[in-house]
Amino acid sequence: MTKYLQKCSNCGEYGLINTKSVCKHCKGTLVNPFPPKYSPIDKYAKYRLAYFKEEFKKRYKNN
Ligand SMILES: [Zn+2]
Repeated sequence: MTKYLQKCSNCGEYGLINTKSVCKHCKGTLVNPFPPKYSPIDKYAKYRLAYFKEEFKKRYKNN
């Protein structure tokens, strides 16, 4: 089952992979719990996550 789980980058809860990669608990972004630290892409993932967090904040404020 582990490969079907992703970890929320916001609250740290694990959730099933879904098409939107959205955390059930906090609507944060689900990420692979085993990040490829060896990959240079990981550097940019931080920026992507920051971007998504901002997007979610905006949505919460607008709602
Ligand atoms: Zn969460």
